[in-house]
Amino acid sequence: MNPANYLKIKNKIPSNVNILAVSKGFKSQDIKIIQNIGQNDFGESKVQEAFEKQSTLKDLKEINWHFIGRIQSNKIRKVVQNFKYIHSVDSFEKLQKISNISLQEKKCPLIMLQVKLSEDPTKGGFKPEFLILKWKEIQKLKNISLTGLMTINPKGLSSKENSVLFKKCRELADSLQLPDCSMGMSGDWEEAIDAGSTWLRLGSIIFGGRS
Ligand SMILES: *Cc1c(COP(=O)(O)O)cnc(C)c1O
Repeated sequence: MNPANYLKIKNKIPSNVNILAVSKGFKSQDIKIIQNIGQNDFGESKVQEAFEKQSTLKDLKEINWHFIGRIQSNKIRKVVQNFKYIHSVDSFEKLQKISNISLQEKKCPLIMLQVKLSEDPTKGGFKPEFLILKWKEIQKLKNISLTGLMTINPKGLSSKENSVLFKKCRELADSLQLPDCSMGMSGDWEEAIDAGSTWLRLGSIIFGGRS
């Protein structure tokens, strides 16, 4: 990994947009290199892989760990115990479970709800209509801090198609008065910034290709 790649992208991004460095598939040593030059938010998508890095890097207290993977119900406790942010809550049942477990664990994770804005069968998430319908009920859940929405665009879209979906996400977040939108990856981060992303989830563009 070359820290110049990180600095190059960091310098192109407006200061109100956060970089989540997606370190899944990369080593603790790579995390250390960019943590040392000011990156403190790291995203992981597998619980076990994340634990190993969290344990190796436990002395780096400034790191904020973000969970971005598909959450299995039986791993919710471990996610709640070990991550400050959860970007990938994709159903009401899981959200309720996170709330219950957070209460028991005396935690209050920052939550972004994954929304499904296109008919991509490989991606889960809340349908916008469902979110709007259930919003009052969702807001009553204890020990979670709802800060935003998250979306993953299908692969292979044009720049314009990416923009349309990102703008939908931003509009929905605004209508629910949620400040954050976790959107934009290595291939579509520029469109995501233009549409109002607050968290870019960047992996390969920072760390290089995954083996
Ligand atoms: C892997 C992953 C990313 C980062 O992908 P890159 O294309 O390497 O930037 C972002 N978000 C999620 C949910 C991921 O699983």
